Amino acid sequence: MTDLAFDVINPATEEVVRSVPLTSAEETDAAIERARAALPSWRAVAPGDRARLLRRFADAVDADIENLARLEVANSGHTIGNARGEAGNVRDVLHYYAAAPERLIGKQIPVPGGVNITFAEPLGVVGVIVPWNFPMPIAGWGFAPALAAGNTVVLKPAELTPLTALRLGELAREAGIPEDVFQVLPGKGSVVGQRFVDHPAVRKVVFTGSTEVGKRIMAGCSAQVKRVTLELGGKNANIVFADADLEQAAATAPYGVFDNAGQDCCARSRILVQGSVYERFMELLEPAVQGVVVGDPGAESTEMGPLISAGHREKVASFLRPDSPVAFRGSAPDGAGFWFPPTVVTPDSPADPLLTEEVFGPIVAVVPFADEAEAVALANDTDYGLSGSIWTADVGRALRVSRGVEAGNLSVNSHSAVRYWTPFGGFKQSGLGRELGPDAVEAFTETKNVFISTEGK
Ligand code: NAD
Repeated sequence: MTDLAFDVINPATEEVVRSVPLTSAEETDAAIERARAALPSWRAVAPGDRARLLRRFADAVDADIENLARLEVANSGHTIGNARGEAGNVRDVLHYYAAAPERLIGKQIPVPGGVNITFAEPLGVVGVIVPWNFPMPIAGWGFAPALAAGNTVVLKPAELTPLTALRLGELAREAGIPEDVFQVLPGKGSVVGQRFVDHPAVRKVVFTGSTEVGKRIMAGCSAQVKRVTLELGGKNANIVFADADLEQAAATAPYGVFDNAGQDCCARSRILVQGSVYERFMELLEPAVQGVVVGDPGAESTEMGPLISAGHREKVASFLRPDSPVAFRGSAPDGAGFWFPPTVVTPDSPADPLLTEEVFGPIVAVVPFADEAEAVALANDTDYGLSGSIWTADVGRALRVSRGVEAGNLSVNSHSAVRYWTPFGGFKQSGLGRELGPDAVEAFTETKNVFISTEGK
């Protein structure tokens, strides 16, 4: 790597895939200026035409799914099945928000002496900063509603994973979205991302990444009262009650945490199990963990690929000390690639970093609890609050615990992934604001209130 280019490495083979130029601070400023200049004509595009352009963009993504998926396998080590789903998610999110331009409806509010109406105005230039763990979907969750609302977008992929974002930029142009309306700027967070925070023409930063960097972004944005959406880390609980379908809970638990090799802000990395069924659950969990197919991410049958980089594997491995209480592990290939086997630990101190920190790798901690109150207390004993699962046959308990757990996205008797038509985001230090769902476009507009006198005064 130099200051001018970054070698993208295939995490399954450690081979260089491609060298990608890094955008400088001056080039970032020039791109932001072009995005600002493009704003008047983009917001003036008739709603139906803006919708049509977004649908064409979705169609271009759809026609390119296999290519995008193969790029993600090579760049990020995602399994080919997941990568196809991620590219399909960008298509679906574009289609979903393509319906928004014609539905950006204001209100007529009764007032004496005239008419009062509200408008949903675009914010201006929106800067989207994307992490490396889900390069395609997280980019789309930002740019699709932002464009639909009439904003122009500058997007910075993570340094490690720029390839699919660059391809999405090409597809947008092929679909007829003007070049300066949606620009992809690969580069460093401290350079390109920092300019999004500091440049006054950027009116909103959509940031997904670590809580640590998110806090700095929020502090930086405060200098200009810049709008910000933050999607940050998680330490999510999978709560298994004694009355649950234990076979199903144990069979699915590995996929609730080890999907994407655990590099998922929604990973259920703490399994809380009611004491009376703890032993039985562990007996069922062991073969399920050992059954996770870890290997070549390009193979159709693979369920888990490598970690993203050598540095990240070191960080994940550092959570395991020689005396760590490892209960059992799955398998991982030897040789080239940043492999790490699925690992189950049983820490007994609540202060153990395995229970308090986001590992962001395939390590899950299992902890017993006595009753419902303790389960909720343990689940909430974290600064994070992103997602979680509740396994029980009792509907009343499912609802009570769902209301009690301080997290933005909960699943009962499932580990459902993010759905683009439902709201997604975190409580506490997992974030600020919500993405996706029917209301996300509003987060890319300002409400303007206009009073028109009918009395001439
Ligand atoms: P990171 O915070 O290191 O980087 C995220 C992005 O921010 C990258 O593009 C990076 O280049 C950029 N960046 C870094 N420093 C910056 C700065 N000073 N100014 C502006 N931009 C800067 O995170 P990561 O390691 O890429 O991703 C992993 C983290 O993302 C995990 O904590 C994970 O939980 C979180 N995440 C959250 C969600 C969610 O929706 N809540 C989704 C995916 C990932």
